[in-house]
Amino acid sequence: MAKKCEKCGQERHMLPWETECYSCGIKQQIKDGEITEISCEDEIYCPHCGEDYEIDVDNCELYVEGEYELVCYECRKPFSVEVRVSYSYSTYKK
Ligand SMILES: [Zn+2]
Ligand SMILES: [Zn+2]
Repeated sequence: MAKKCEKCGQERHMLPWETECYSCGIKQQIKDGEITEISCEDEIYCPHCGEDYEIDVDNCELYVEGEYELVCYECRKPFSVEVRVSYSYSTYKK
């Protein structure tokens, strides 16, 4: 469900009881020093400022498992990202 975040005003997918988006929540936790790393998310968030990192479609190496060095577009600080790819299979009768 897309709602408007009270903090940044952007339309984001949020749970019904949430008033701010995931990215704003992460930013707050980083500011409070509660978290120093962000793991197992389906998007890449900068661990310095919490901004979500827009994956460049031409930068398809991020779709292959491994560790990569990225530089945040927002705060310009470097960080590492570990990419894990999971596959699932479905079969059906013809
Ligand atoms: Zn927000
Ligand atoms: Zn950043």
